[in-house]
Amino acid sequence: QRPVLHADVDTVAAVVASGEREEVLPAAIRFEAYRAAGGYALWEAVRSGARDPASVVAALDAAGLRGLGGAGFPAARKWHTVAAQPAPRHMAVNIDEGEPGTFKDRHYLSTDPHRFIEGMLIAARVVGIAAIWIYIRDEYPALRRLLAEELERVRAEWPELPPIELRRGAGAYVCGEESAMIESIEGKRGMPRLRPPYVAEVGLFGRPTLEHNLETLWWVRDTVETSAERGAEWFARHGRHGRKGLRSFSVSGRVARPGVVVTDAGITLRELIDEHCGGMLPGHELYGYFPGGASGGILPARLADVPLDFDTLAPYGCFIGSAAIVVFSQHDRARLLAENAMAFFADESCGQCTPCRVGTAKAVELMKAPAWDAGLLTELGRTMMDASICGLGQAAPNPMQSVLRFFPHEVGGARAGAAAGASPTTSDAGA
Ligand code: SF4
Repeated sequence: QRPVLHADVDTVAAVVASGEREEVLPAAIRFEAYRAAGGYALWEAVRSGARDPASVVAALDAAGLRGLGGAGFPAARKWHTVAAQPAPRHMAVNIDEGEPGTFKDRHYLSTDPHRFIEGMLIAARVVGIAAIWIYIRDEYPALRRLLAEELERVRAEWPELPPIELRRGAGAYVCGEESAMIESIEGKRGMPRLRPPYVAEVGLFGRPTLEHNLETLWWVRDTVETSAERGAEWFARHGRHGRKGLRSFSVSGRVARPGVVVTDAGITLRELIDEHCGGMLPGHELYGYFPGGASGGILPARLADVPLDFDTLAPYGCFIGSAAIVVFSQHDRARLLAENAMAFFADESCGQCTPCRVGTAKAVELMKAPAWDAGLLTELGRTMMDASICGLGQAAPNPMQSVLRFFPHEVGGARAGAAAGASPTTSDAGA
């Protein structure tokens, strides 16, 4: 079965131009249509006990479904861990989607919201959840209304469901971090917590909490369903270059057809662009790309054949995160993109720990110099990675360090590359 290109640039443009209402909502599969097409049959089976909870977790495990918000933690293990904690247990769903370049959750919610809701209800039943909080980005007002309407339909159908509360995020990037999101839901300032304890043990309102990104729950039905067309084997059958499963890539930048692409885990950037995005834009040649939004680092064109998946990019100091692929060309400069990313992180730092609060601001200043002080920036980056409390401060140096390693010719040539551990011959000058 061929992977599908779900959304294209016209859809995204229409969404933006419409203020997210008229063009999007009619496209969504509503409750009646979803049920008529076989939706909620799996939920009914789980609810009635016809489908054993242990077999649901086993199917998730067999499919290899991992957390698709960015961390990639195995979903089955998370369900298992939280289910083993004392009741009452809570659930928090993350639809904050703040990583620059990521728009897959918006796509799924605007087209097929019940596939996500069904996954959420199944997770809640299997794990024994007492109450659910959904944290949705405030920049998605139409989707919030859509979700509220559809949740009402679901509630009317199954009045015995646990309480489900919709909470609006207020635009803070750090609130995509699970413990900061939980603080925000509790009505406090969204600042990450020190761990342990982990949210699976002490989470929302002090209770064990199952925390998931929307997309992870969206895949539950397709990975657990026992049918000829879907199920754990079907999901795990996809993948290439030794990787398994499907991934949703949010592709933007200098490609002919940006959009959300659902395809094999482990696909390379070159394959992604050629097979799904119509190639590069006319007049543009591949120069580099962000494989995982602003926080996942930057890779040069010569690394366009590396499989894109969890764990595959670590040797290059990068990660795939939420699979936000931003492609740039010879008309762009990697250093400007890295400077922009660092300014973003400085803006979004919650400020509670010094390496991130001071480090991002200091890096912004240092990166303005025509020739970067590679030794100083490398040391600063390492300190931020080692000593920051959360992923924001730990990942903020990634694009900067990528530039030192792969694009030293842009920031002072051999001197920068040597200090960052890359020789000038490994750079992509002129690629
Ligand atoms: Fe806040 Fe940054 Fe520290 Fe995270 S790393 S807790 S965002 S200051």
